[in-house]
Amino acid sequence: MTDRIYLSPPHMSGNEMKYIKEAFETNWIAPLGPNVNLFEKELATYSDVKGALVTSSGTAAIHLALATLRVGKGDTVFVSTFTFVASANPVLYLGAEPVFIDSEPDTWNMSPEALELALKEAKIRNRLPKAIVVVNLYGQSAKMDELNDIARRFAVPIVEDAAESLGSTYKHKKSGTLSEIGIYSFNGNKIITTSGGGALISNDEEIVNQARFLATQAKDKAPYYQHSQVGFNYRMSNVSAGIGRAQLEVLDQRVERRREIFDYYKQELNQLKGIHFMPELKQTTSNRWLTTLTIDLSEYRISPREFMLKMESVNIETRVLWKPLHMQPLFSDCQFYKHPLSSEVISEKLFETGLCLPSGTNMSETDQERVVEEMKKIFNSNRKPVYVFNWNKQKGMRAKVQRKTI
Ligand SMILES: *Cc1c(COP(=O)(O)O)cnc(C)c1O
Repeated sequence: MTDRIYLSPPHMSGNEMKYIKEAFETNWIAPLGPNVNLFEKELATYSDVKGALVTSSGTAAIHLALATLRVGKGDTVFVSTFTFVASANPVLYLGAEPVFIDSEPDTWNMSPEALELALKEAKIRNRLPKAIVVVNLYGQSAKMDELNDIARRFAVPIVEDAAESLGSTYKHKKSGTLSEIGIYSFNGNKIITTSGGGALISNDEEIVNQARFLATQAKDKAPYYQHSQVGFNYRMSNVSAGIGRAQLEVLDQRVERRREIFDYYKQELNQLKGIHFMPELKQTTSNRWLTTLTIDLSEYRISPREFMLKMESVNIETRVLWKPLHMQPLFSDCQFYKHPLSSEVISEKLFETGLCLPSGTNMSETDQERVVEEMKKIFNSNRKPVYVFNWNKQKGMRAKVQRKTI
């Protein structure tokens, strides 16, 4: 059996042990310590924002962001529907209710038109949301200018869920810095990792300070332990932050490599009919965290789910795209606004047709050639026969001829 090729495994830089060793040698194994402070400073510098708070997970960072914006019982929060469940779970932690917004086809992210519709209706009913969680999926930024304009008109703050888009840019700004608050994830499968962790970033230092206060058990200023509000234990540990510092040093290299991996797939598979890669919006660069594509089901008799199983049988990990949250049993009671400029529900269509390919930066060229070869085999043997009609001179009729696969 050949070695397994994973979707997106961790990739260490080699410097991690240096910072972890420092933590051990100085006995800063207690949660906080110098690596935490330095990682926060270095991350803020990288993203060019005033403040950063590193947390135990990306989910914790979203929870803190919404808590800082005073989301509470009975409130609503608008959330991109096409995302991982962690974008919306914190809304439930706070006793609020998510309303899901569809994708648009240019970025696969939140549709500004659907958002505007949802906000107009909410305003009429006097139920404007406390916040909007906009996700940048698979590394691609949403249409942030349009979304920000609409949100500002209704005075609703945006939390940019940049868990998958660290290192991407939107009009030369770092992804995650386009709105009031941004969040990152350093989970093991993300573009860089601390084994588990996340961050909250903002240009509003008061927001970052408030999030830091809530993340450290909400201790009042008093000579003893006094608390007047609910806090959390959400800070990143000094050991994890050591890993993060070494990973941040190679982030730009990792982005470059992921983009190369994407380019290779595109070059090799683009000539197949009915295969479409995730688009990249003008004036943005995607970190191409995962290479993703859609399969035109009128051209192939294989669904992404079947495709995934076939790849699994040759020990290659692929994955279907996120199942939209408005389709999840957990959120079956929640409202949903579809993209109004299409008869189809964009996020549902993407879910039915989309696939993620192995995109780890430590994948070798031979690995990638193997993935491509297996994919070509599967696509070619599952091409739908297409009949073309050729004029048959002798018989004076059209003869049915089956098109060959390429
Ligand atoms: C990974 C991810 C998160 C959550 O991050 P964790 O660090 O795993 O808690 C949130 N949103 C999106 C879109 C993600 O992909």
